[in-house]
Amino acid sequence: MVGIFFVVNNQLLLHKCSLEEAEKYGDFLNYPQSHMEIWDQYYYKKFKVDFDYFPRGRIIYNINEKTYYIYIDKCLVNDIKNLGIIPQNEKVKILNDFHYKCHKCNKNYVI
Ligand SMILES: [Zn+2]
Repeated sequence: MVGIFFVVNNQLLLHKCSLEEAEKYGDFLNYPQSHMEIWDQYYYKKFKVDFDYFPRGRIIYNINEKTYYIYIDKCLVNDIKNLGIIPQNEKVKILNDFHYKCHKCNKNYVI
């Protein structure tokens, strides 16, 4: 599967789809919706902060390398193994993405 996720107070909010349902983008299969779209649709009313307030990440799949790439906020590096989202028995690369910064990692964050 591929997907996007947020981690809100140690709780995982994961939105995923199968590789068949994913969107092809170059060599990658990607979840078709953005963090902002999902957040505004499901969580904004509940948490009343913007989509980039909490740590977040994205799981995509490289078709040529048969490898999952998991891009995460740097504050999730230590917790990622405990979230239960790393595909088992697959090749996986876990990478920081400077686009993914929560309000704690982004010094310029304005609420
Ligand atoms: Zn962070």
